[in-house]
Amino acid sequence: MRQVTATVISNAEVMPQVHLLWLEAPGMAAAARPGQFVMARCGTGHDPLLRRPLSVHRVDGGQRLALLVGVAGRGTGWLSYRRKGDVVDLLGPLGNGFSIRTAARSLLLVAGGIGVAPLVFLAEEALRSGRAVSLVVGARSASGLYPRSLLPSGASVVEVTEDGSEGLRGMAVDHIDGCVGRAEQVFACGPATMYRSMAGKECLTGEPVQISLETMMGCGLGACYGCATRTRTGMRMVCHDGPVFELDDVIW
Ligand SMILES: Cc1cc2nc3c(=O)[nH]c(=O)nc-3n(C[C@H](O)[C@H](O)[C@H](O)COP(=O)(O)OP(=O)(O)OC[C@H]3O[C@@H](n4cnc5c(N)ncnc54)[C@H](O)[C@@H]3O)c2cc1C
Repeated sequence: MRQVTATVISNAEVMPQVHLLWLEAPGMAAAARPGQFVMARCGTGHDPLLRRPLSVHRVDGGQRLALLVGVAGRGTGWLSYRRKGDVVDLLGPLGNGFSIRTAARSLLLVAGGIGVAPLVFLAEEALRSGRAVSLVVGARSASGLYPRSLLPSGASVVEVTEDGSEGLRGMAVDHIDGCVGRAEQVFACGPATMYRSMAGKECLTGEPVQISLETMMGCGLGACYGCATRTRTGMRMVCHDGPVFELDDVIW
């Protein structure tokens, strides 16, 4: 883990209120693994006091790192206004990250909304290692879908929108049944409601499913206990013991 003053290379609004920020972050980019996150200082002084957690969205060449920032409030709003040459103080990479089983050759990735952020990095790594990747991406409507042109080529993509304005209608989880049989490992990132419906799905019973919990957190370092979550093996801190957990290990 390191603290880096990262320089913004580019900032593009890729979906309404969602910004793709590329940053020069040598050292950190080289060390990051899919599913890990950074704590970003979202201001120049001490307000807001707490850093905000953001998944490592992509890396490029060990020097550059991308964040996918959905504007939720003050912190992410501040980040969305950063321009080329601005600096952002980052702490990371933090957390355990996803772990692909050596024997798993075919993966299913399920993304709900901004949950696509860590899964793009995972898809890129998996494809690079010769694995097959199916990616089911869900959003409220067409404008909220991550641009297809930015998705790693080679992944088989299923788009799902709640209102049916693009791709299949419904929630991402409604459309995974056909893909689960072909996958040797399943990964997901999205809201807690998505995980709850996954936990109740018959086709996932007994399947190895890793999820990334995007719980609100204070310090990101395991010191404040703000992100404690209940699991079958006791209370765990999302920042320190996660954010990646086995789906059936979490008590919903
Ligand atoms: C491990 C991890 C990885 C994350 N990765 C990403 C990412 O890649 N891209 C991204 O856009 N966001 C990500 N998030 C969520 C992001 O951290 C929050 O949206 C952000 O902290 C909100 O800060 P803010 O100052 O903009 O909003 P605030 O002003 O702090 O809050 C605005 C609203 O958002 C709600 N909120 C705050 N934090 C969260 C949260 N974690 N989950 C749900 N609601 C929240 C608040 O209750 C409030 O209603 C991640 C969270 C975690 C824990």
